[in-house]
Amino acid sequence: MEKCSLMSLSMYLKTCCIINFRYVKDYTLLGTTFQYSVSGGEFAQIIHTGQCHWVAVSNIGCRKGVVNVYDSLNYGTLTTYTVKQIGTILHEEDPEIILNIKPVQQQNNGTDCGVFAIAFVASLLNGQDPSTASYNNNQLRTHLLWCIKNGHLSPFPQAPDQTRLKRCKGKRVITELFCSCRMPWDKQDGKRRATQMACCDKCEEWFHRSCENIPDRVFKKMSQWKCSKCVHAS
Ligand SMILES: [Zn+2]
Ligand SMILES: [Zn+2]
Repeated sequence: MEKCSLMSLSMYLKTCCIINFRYVKDYTLLGTTFQYSVSGGEFAQIIHTGQCHWVAVSNIGCRKGVVNVYDSLNYGTLTTYTVKQIGTILHEEDPEIILNIKPVQQQNNGTDCGVFAIAFVASLLNGQDPSTASYNNNQLRTHLLWCIKNGHLSPFPQAPDQTRLKRCKGKRVITELFCSCRMPWDKQDGKRRATQMACCDKCEEWFHRSCENIPDRVFKKMSQWKCSKCVHAS
């Protein structure tokens, strides 16, 4: 499915299934600029991985700081873009978050990721575990169309022969969080002025230049600097 048509589809779904979608927080488009609102409780969200691919993420049934990733085309890794979007939703105070790649059914073509992401969310919202669900590939799109027409996101039809379906391997990814924005860090952040980080001399935590308004001298002369929390505490 084309990226744009899926975006409008998921937006349409959110609009027409607003009661059913009480867990689905935000329009997917907000993820592109890390503008998801912070979740106070349980959520399910379809996000774009930044690599022409859609996945579903949710903390339904998870303990604090843990998020499950339901990805229909997973090879054991998560994109930085995916991890960062989860970071914005959680805004977790703890030093790290745990992302569980769940062993879900894998798509058998290059185009069904969006429909699978919606199918995973449909399972979650109907009290089912997507890692044990087996979806009927031939009925994915007809069922999605039915959901849109009827304004109700019901579970997707199950496959008649579940033994032939391929699943990805489950994996646990531990991600460290930094700064007052509680975000993961990646190499690219070090190349961008706003996201360069400095260490607070008191709490020894790392903070982004823009988040804490860190003066240039800290980066140029490695001069002493305290984060705003430590300044207020002293
Ligand atoms: Zn920050
Ligand atoms: Zn500090």
